Amino acid sequence: TLDLKHIRQNPGLYEQNCNDRNYGPYAGNGWKILELHEQLVLQQRQAVELRQRNNVLARELKKAATEADDGRDRAGLLQEARSLKGKLAEFEQREKLVQEEMEILALELPNLSSLHTPVGEEPAVLGHINGDVVPTDSNGKSHIDIGAELDLLSFEASATTSGWGWYFLKNEAALLEQALIQYALSVALKRGWRVMTPPSLVYSHIASACGFMPRDQHGETQVYGIGQEEPAANGASLVLAGTAEIPFAGSQANRTLAETDLPLKVIGPSRCYRAEAGARGVDTKGLYRVHEFTKVEMFAWTVPPASSTSENEGFDTDDEQQQTQTEEVFDEMIAIQTEILTSLGLHARVLEMPTTDLGASATRKIDIEAWFPSRASIDNGYGEVTSASICTDYQARRLNTKIKLERGDVKSAFVHTVNGTALAVPRILACLLESGWEERTGTVEVPRCLRKWMPGELERIGA
Ligand code: AMP
Repeated sequence: TLDLKHIRQNPGLYEQNCNDRNYGPYAGNGWKILELHEQLVLQQRQAVELRQRNNVLARELKKAATEADDGRDRAGLLQEARSLKGKLAEFEQREKLVQEEMEILALELPNLSSLHTPVGEEPAVLGHINGDVVPTDSNGKSHIDIGAELDLLSFEASATTSGWGWYFLKNEAALLEQALIQYALSVALKRGWRVMTPPSLVYSHIASACGFMPRDQHGETQVYGIGQEEPAANGASLVLAGTAEIPFAGSQANRTLAETDLPLKVIGPSRCYRAEAGARGVDTKGLYRVHEFTKVEMFAWTVPPASSTSENEGFDTDDEQQQTQTEEVFDEMIAIQTEILTSLGLHARVLEMPTTDLGASATRKIDIEAWFPSRASIDNGYGEVTSASICTDYQARRLNTKIKLERGDVKSAFVHTVNGTALAVPRILACLLESGWEERTGTVEVPRCLRKWMPGELERIGA
């Protein structure tokens, strides 16, 4: 069911796409698929000839049986028929193998990049939230120090229990986490999104189908397994989900949705688990890069644009005249993210991410980076707090999620999927502590939008 025809017709496009996205080792896959397909066509032609010969033989054998004395060598005919049968079985087996090989090669290819996506490593800045900041080299007080001073965070306790990259949230920090979850949900609920909480453990094949491989393209481990103690009933292995995107996407695997059900938009909090094997240096301290965190995630299934369903084998192009439902939902996700960050009073910038940042599944990705006072000397102080991606039908093809259609001859197609962070707690918490810190009073301001979820509608922590 993979888009083999499109790959075969455009091997150069897929090669360029792999090179643009840092998937160099797979750049030749399109050409290999083309070569295998040529082999397949040749084989199929030979098989047709063999089948024709087989029919002739069958007729001759029939004749030989009725006309016993016509001098034909019945034994010879039988022998030829037997050897033909063997050859045909061999051909069929080989055909199956070639087909499988082509599908494996196609599965390794990343999604095609959108026309919005800058090629290379540099993102394009689309705009700012709450204004830009004046660049400075002097770092503000870090959330680690603020957290220690106000008894909000403990990294010593978690170093004892779990190692680096884990943490305890205490007192108002623990309450702020709950307030942030409630607030993020409320913004999407107001717009009619449905709330759903997912399981934390998922089958590894579901994670792979969503574009999360056990190792990333740099060979680094992203995913925690849970060992052999508790294998799933069917023998498949379970892993800890790095994001709710995986169980959300998987929840509609092998299903056909009705056009009237779409767009289907869900939001929910979950605990996310990341091995972060490649993390180094400054990021390994504090809340910026941790192994487990709470994230409120948005996920949506949308109707694919007509251009991608005309052959039920096409691919998405973003040269559509009208805005597609997929893009509308994507824009809504960015609007939700923007509303949340605006209300939290954080300085942030909106980035159109470049090809090397898209991973396997996204065709387009927008990240928002907030300004962390303690990181002023690193990347101008900006650090990623949200990410939203359009995956077109990359995940749906692998998970077999379809939509029933009435478009001429086209009766069904793969849906599109879109995902986005509504709010990932630890970085936002760190940013709020650092941005809300007032040196003179030694207190931290609680943003207005969170107060209704804090005991006593708390205005300042430490006051
Ligand atoms: P991702 O699913 O990787 O696009 O990440 C979504 C959001 O989760 C990011 O924008 C961060 O705010 C947050 N995040 C991702 N990884 C980590 C981590 N290891 N520690 C803390 N927050 C993270």
